[in-house]
Amino acid sequence: MTRSPRVIVVGAGIGGITTAHVLARRGFDDVTILEKGDEAGGVWHWNTYPGLTCDVPSNLYQFAFAPKPDWERVFATGPQIKRYVNDVIDHLGLRDRLICDAEVVSTVFADDEWTVTLADGRTFVADFVVMATGVLHHPNVPDIPGLDTFGGPVVHSARWDADLRIEGERVAVIGSGSTGVQLVTALQGLASRVLHFTRSPQWVMWAPMDLKQSRLLTAVLTRFPAARSALYRALLSGSGFLADVTTVPSWRRRALQQFARASLAVQVRDRRTRAALTPDYEPMCKRQVLSGGYYRALQSVDADLVDAPIREVTATGITTGDGVHHPLDVIVLATGFRAHDYMRPMDLRGRDGVRIDDVWADGPRAYRLTAIPGFPNLFTVLGPNSPTGSISLQYTAERTAEAIADRLDEFAAGVFDTIEVTEEATDEFLAEANTAMGPTVWATGCDSWYLTPAGDVDLWPYDRRTLTRMLAEHRTDHYRFTRSPMTTHGATR
Ligand code: NAP
Repeated sequence: MTRSPRVIVVGAGIGGITTAHVLARRGFDDVTILEKGDEAGGVWHWNTYPGLTCDVPSNLYQFAFAPKPDWERVFATGPQIKRYVNDVIDHLGLRDRLICDAEVVSTVFADDEWTVTLADGRTFVADFVVMATGVLHHPNVPDIPGLDTFGGPVVHSARWDADLRIEGERVAVIGSGSTGVQLVTALQGLASRVLHFTRSPQWVMWAPMDLKQSRLLTAVLTRFPAARSALYRALLSGSGFLADVTTVPSWRRRALQQFARASLAVQVRDRRTRAALTPDYEPMCKRQVLSGGYYRALQSVDADLVDAPIREVTATGITTGDGVHHPLDVIVLATGFRAHDYMRPMDLRGRDGVRIDDVWADGPRAYRLTAIPGFPNLFTVLGPNSPTGSISLQYTAERTAEAIADRLDEFAAGVFDTIEVTEEATDEFLAEANTAMGPTVWATGCDSWYLTPAGDVDLWPYDRRTLTRMLAEHRTDHYRFTRSPMTTHGATR
């Protein structure tokens, strides 16, 4: 018996495009990608703020199945990555599987099928749904008193307005994560004055973010495709260092942390400024910020660090807790994302009408990155516990998609009609993961976006080998299957 599963992939970012390609490679041709935005690219589509740069080297931050030989920079800019992702979509023939301007508002399971409904009322029916909706997706707009009374523009970094006038303006950047640091570095010199409001400073490790890729390397990679794969594999293997230092306490972790401290000490000589920029937690506890120019920009005559807490926003600027009013023309919110929303606010309902909002009331929980009890024939790619910041996301997405393709093979062969991970297996996985999280740097005492409402670290506490093994291994005792002898799926669709 063979049948062709109907698959909906939600999201056309790194995870969704990887999934669509892997499923195509494995011979599944009834795959539709639904993308809320008007173009593909995920975070690289939504984020267009000045200075946006990826802090992972370009020759690693790419799909293993589509290595690019001619990256312009060692750390690519946002527009360069978005162009690359879209080139890959065209090159791999995925464009006709992609529907943009397709915001999914509900996904409901009934009678062994998923019905996916878009905001404009269109519906799709599928045997499987893959949620590749991303982590850094929903802008976090802070609840600052008076924000809506400000007389000038207020823009979140992930909804940048290309027409926003910066030149000659007094600009506030609120937030000191990767985004705030990149924005301050880019806007200083354009704006008449940049004020960086930092509720809590972050460690900013020096890195040559503007470095160009050498022409020789481009020539070699262009000429010898084998060299591209070899370089990618070497970088992937070398990136094991990051998983090592973040998950295992060692001299290597301490050495890197010392480098973060030295980056501050060497670049900021003024004692008061240095004290104001010194975090009260260990380097790398939050997602490590990299920058080659932030401290220089911040110490320029046309930039100010404002470390007093924000009391309120008025029509003319921001007033801080020390009573100082800072007159402003533009406010930029680099205040991050609601990282644990994942596919929500979508109305996602699984078996017996169970709602994701209820199941995830205390935070997201999934089995081995990809399966949720109560939600048969639904998988997440780069979902809960994904190794954001320690293992290549492209690699993780590809391994996850391969595991999903294995299940689709079984469905196609009639092995089951529905597959659903058990509560017990999920609890067991999460309990072990939480224990393994103990020695990680993320659990050393800081308040980061990695933490769920319940206080769990929503990351991957293991190395890449463990990730590969757990995704490849199919423990049938961890799942419940249904199979109807009268299945209507007997014929090829
Ligand atoms: P973030 O790291 O979550 O930082 C948000 C900042 O906003 C924090 O400094 C936070 O202060 C501040 N904030 C939040 N609410 C506030 C409020 N009500 N009042 C004052 N300050 C407030 O967000 P992000 O910088 O956008 O970065 C998120 C992630 O995106 C990064 O960690 C990284 O993974 C990714 N990213 C990557 C790149 C890249 O180069 N690849 C670039 C940008 C972003 P507290 O710390 O006090 O909470």
